[in-house]
Amino acid sequence: MVSSAYVTEQIVQELKRLATEATEFAYAPYSNFQVGAALLTGDGRFYSGANVENRSYPMSLCAERAAIAKAVTESRADLEIVAVAVAESNRGPCAPCGGCRQVISEFARVGALLIYRDALGAFKQVPIEEALPDARAFLSEKAPLFSETPPISETPPS
Ligand SMILES: [Zn+2]
Repeated sequence: MVSSAYVTEQIVQELKRLATEATEFAYAPYSNFQVGAALLTGDGRFYSGANVENRSYPMSLCAERAAIAKAVTESRADLEIVAVAVAESNRGPCAPCGGCRQVISEFARVGALLIYRDALGAFKQVPIEEALPDARAFLSEKAPLFSETPPISETPPS
C-alpha cells in the first residue's frame, strides 16, 4: 500500500502529464473546454479520462468521473484513489467541480491529493478533506494517507 513517500514529485509530474495528455481525448464540441484527469490508485496503477459532453448538457461527464469509472470497471472493487490530477488543454484554471470532489471522496481517505491549476493558473495540491469540507468523518473511516500535506510543486506558468 501507499505511504507519504510514495507520491513523489516524479509521480505528481506523471499525473500532470497524463492528465494533460488525456485532454486530447475530450469530447467537448459545445464548450470546447477540453479537460483531462489522471489518478493513481493504492496499488500503483494510473488511469486517465477526459470530459464527455452531450447536447443535453446535464448528461455531460467530467474527466475525473470518466477516469474513476474506468478505474472501477478495469480494476478491483476495492479501488483506492491516492491522488488525482486535472488539466485543461490551454493550461488554464481547472478545479474539480463539487460533484467530482464527492465522487473522488467515495474512493479516497484523508490525505488523498487533488492536483489542479487554481484561478491564477498555478498547480496546487489539496487534500480531499480540504476540498470537501465536513466530509472528514466519512473519509476517516480509514487511516490517513499522509501525516502532512505535500508542498505545492510548481510555480505559475509565465
Ligand atoms: Zn466534475
